[in-house]
Order: sequence, then C-alpha cells, then structure tokens
Amino acid sequence: MKYNVAGIELQLIEGDIAAQPDIEAVVNAANAQLKTGGGVAGAIHRAAGPKLEEACRDLAPIQVGEAVITSAFKLPNKYVVHTLGPVYGQDKPEAELLARCYKNSLHLVEECQLKSVAFPAISTGVFGYPIKEAAEISLKTVKETAEELKKIKLIRFVLYSRSDFKVYSAVAEKIFD
Ligand code: ADP
Repeated sequence: MKYNVAGIELQLIEGDIAAQPDIEAVVNAANAQLKTGGGVAGAIHRAAGPKLEEACRDLAPIQVGEAVITSAFKLPNKYVVHTLGPVYGQDKPEAELLARCYKNSLHLVEECQLKSVAFPAISTGVFGYPIKEAAEISLKTVKETAEELKKIKLIRFVLYSRSDFKVYSAVAEKIFD
C-alpha cells in the first residue's frame, strides 16, 4: 500500500526489516543495552554481523523513546537507527513514549540527510503493545511529523505477519484516505 503524506511516499509492506536493500536507514526495535536479542534486534544484528554490537557499546544504554544511529555494517543499508520502545503496561505514558520513538528516529534520519527509512512495528513483539493501538500511534506520528521533514522522501513500515500488515493497512486507510 502506498500513500503520499506531505510529499513523502509512505509504504506498508509485509516482510523482513533486515532485507530492505533499497532503504538507507533501517530502524531497530532495540533493547536498552543495544545488544542482539530476539525479534527485530536478532534479525538486524545477525545480518549486520558482530561489528554492530561493537559500534553500539559506547552508545548504550539508551532511554525509552530515544534514538541513536550507527553504521549498518553487513546489512544492505547504510545506517541502523536504534530506538527503545515502551514495555506495554510498564513504561508510562506509553502512547507518548511510542510516538517519541518514531519522531526521534525520523528527526535523526533527517539530520543525517537521508532520503529513506524503514520501520518495524516497535514494541509490538516482546514488549506487548497491541498492534492496532501501535499502528494508530505510529501512523499518526508520521502524519504529524511529515511536514517538518525536507530530506526524507520514503518511509516504509515493514510488518512481519500478514495479520499485522492487514491491521496497519486498515488503520492507514482511516488516517490517510
Ligand atoms: P519489541 O521488543 O520492541 O516488542 P520485537 O522485535 O519483539 O520488538 O517485535 C517488534 C515487532 O517486529 C513484532 O510485531 C514482531 O512480530 C516484528 N518482527 C520480528 N522480527 C521481524 C523482522 N525480521 N522484520 C520485521 N519485523 C519483525
């Protein structure tokens, strides 16, 4: 699915965040220590190789909502943005913290003068954020932030399952149509 949001192409696809070769920066749903793990962090660190953890060492720990950037090493991208999502039911106010992840990541990508960025559904795995609420927050945040972005031309959401893709698509239709 594709939308035009204030001159930025917004795409929703079903796929793997570690296999987006046409994107300059991919976002990692990181842990505070910026180490490998399960889910997105595991896929990104596996594909990037051990140098990614090394590069992360001096930047950790990060706070909930914060975003930092490193090289992407063996990934087919230039950079990885690492952001720490809220744990649902624990880190509060969770909606604001989740929005901050997207906002801070987008601003960081913009500062680095990059044209394209891909996001996973931050916090919706191990951190337990319900997918529909997370879709609403992430897509609304893109809508609100898009006007402030001059360099970024492509924002892609990479959803890992068909059902998450369907939820995102339905929410996007409401927000952007
Ligand atoms: P968090 O700890 O922020 O919840 P997870 O990595 O556990 O992060 O999960 C975030 C979301 O990413 C979940 O919806 C999960 O299904 C999805 N996911 C897991 N692996 C991948 C991948 N390789 N590419 C894209 N999304 C993924």
